[in-house]
Amino acid sequence: MAFLNFQLKPKNELEAGGRGAAPVHRDESEPEQTCPNCHKSIPVSRLWANQNVCPCGHHFRINARQRIGMITDRNSFREMDADLQSDDPLNFAGYQAKLETARLSSNEPEAVVCGTAEIRGQKCCLFVMEAAFMMGSMGTVVGEKITRLFEYALEHRMSVVGFTVSGGARMQEGLLSLMQMAKVSGAVKRHSDGGLFYLTVLTDPTTGGVTASFAMEGDIIIAEPGATVGFAGARVIEQTTRKSLPRGFQKAEFLLEHGFVDAIVARKAQADTIAGLLRIHNREVSA
Ligand SMILES: [Zn+2]
Repeated sequence: MAFLNFQLKPKNELEAGGRGAAPVHRDESEPEQTCPNCHKSIPVSRLWANQNVCPCGHHFRINARQRIGMITDRNSFREMDADLQSDDPLNFAGYQAKLETARLSSNEPEAVVCGTAEIRGQKCCLFVMEAAFMMGSMGTVVGEKITRLFEYALEHRMSVVGFTVSGGARMQEGLLSLMQMAKVSGAVKRHSDGGLFYLTVLTDPTTGGVTASFAMEGDIIIAEPGATVGFAGARVIEQTTRKSLPRGFQKAEFLLEHGFVDAIVARKAQADTIAGLLRIHNREVSA
């Protein structure tokens, strides 16, 4: 009988209806995604209904427009500088083709989307980086768009909320991309000197020059669960220092423990948390 019981057991928790959720009626034609954390296959529609978070808590990557749709009030987002596109200032071999591929695969002209929006009724300036565009790498246009957003926010006395995801500076633009770190940081400083609020949300992965500049310059820094956040890659650090790194190194939870981020906020709670923080600061500005 033990053998029979074993056969009748559902293959995984999701087949049994998941953790307290409604039973899943499987449609054989429906695509599924395998979770890298719990290794279970989840119907894509179910992931969508749960903001692309697995029942085990793993946060799948989402694109910039999906995130804007999830976080902002309906029809409140007004995009800015949507027509700015990268050029090839150094005539770097293969860059034009890479840009074209990135535009087609991400359906975005660049690796960041900027604009104004309302989150639970709280007005703010918002930038959301796009992983599907050359892994959110920071070139001149990314730097320029974010700088302009901060300048607009300063002029209109608005808070800035930024979602970061990036592989770092865009090597095809060499020094021009590296100088964006200083340029954006200058704009962040002027915004801060104006007594205005800047909140960053670090999502997986936030690395390189973006971490070394505006991602970590928020007045409050929150991170998504499990997000990798760091400057150099763990393997490079290990090879350079010849020391093995602690478990969970460069994960959001490790950073929280060591005081680099203020809180880890699950995707589902982000709009409420961000709106709560904006409410405090927006009230101060208007007072
Ligand atoms: Zn999972």
